[in-house]
Amino acid sequence: MPLVNMKPLLRDAMDNGYAVAAFNLVDYNTTKAMVKAAEELNAPVICQTSAKTIAYFSHKEIVRWVRTVAEDSPVPVVLHLDHCKDIPMIEECAKSGWTSIMIDASELPFEENLEMSKRVRDIAEKYGVGMEAELGQIMGVEDDMVVAEEDSVLTDPEDAKKFCDALDLSAFACAVGTAHGFYKGEPKVDFDRIEAINQLTRTPMALHGGTGLSDDTFARAIARGAAKVNISTNLKHVFVESFVNYHNENPADFEPLRLIDAQYQACKLLFSSFIAKFGGENRAQPFLEALKQAA
Ligand SMILES: [Zn+2]
Repeated sequence: MPLVNMKPLLRDAMDNGYAVAAFNLVDYNTTKAMVKAAEELNAPVICQTSAKTIAYFSHKEIVRWVRTVAEDSPVPVVLHLDHCKDIPMIEECAKSGWTSIMIDASELPFEENLEMSKRVRDIAEKYGVGMEAELGQIMGVEDDMVVAEEDSVLTDPEDAKKFCDALDLSAFACAVGTAHGFYKGEPKVDFDRIEAINQLTRTPMALHGGTGLSDDTFARAIARGAAKVNISTNLKHVFVESFVNYHNENPADFEPLRLIDAQYQACKLLFSSFIAKFGGENRAQPFLEALKQAA
């Protein structure tokens, strides 16, 4: 089916107590693996791209991959732009076929962040796509940008309300104690903050830094309004390790298709496990029926 807008999908997730898994695609093969994993579980999925990946492959190439696999599939697929600070690049995505875009102006003071996010809201409205914006500073490394633990700022629920009321977001990214990359110790996720923010904003929350969180943490965050969970670091590791391990176990095999198939299967397994963990299984058809009725 054609790519879907992220907004109604995440509303459905929030209203029904599940979260949609969002994976940062690496190439065509990982894109295909995430959509196939979703299809096998009858689940929606978000294929997201870092600005870095777009700079490497081009908008045109990525949108072709994602459309190709989504159009052959009966489950809803969103093509989303992850953390981006570059407004021309954001507009280019909306124009080229992305169905959701993210502005991350979270390092700016509140008013400037809101101002820049409003400019992106106008772009999202113009092209009819979903939108994510961020308030507060999530610690860790994302696209080569580093936020140290002492510089991370948890999102204030009252500010979150002001921000979300002004923007009509599909997804709200905020700092609630999770981090990008691998966790060194036990992450201190602030569940009360998630709940307070969700009560005030009634906006589906995007939980960043999903890699390394426990099943219990996911369940508690999702029960409190996390409707999109991002997984990136974990995929990077499986992507590399599955390839290397296959070669180490089969040093005489130089058939590239067997190598990339081993990688494809390992990535698909990772995607399936997160989709199921977040409660996405069998959510595709009920969402599509509700969407049809609303139209
Ligand atoms: Zn993130």
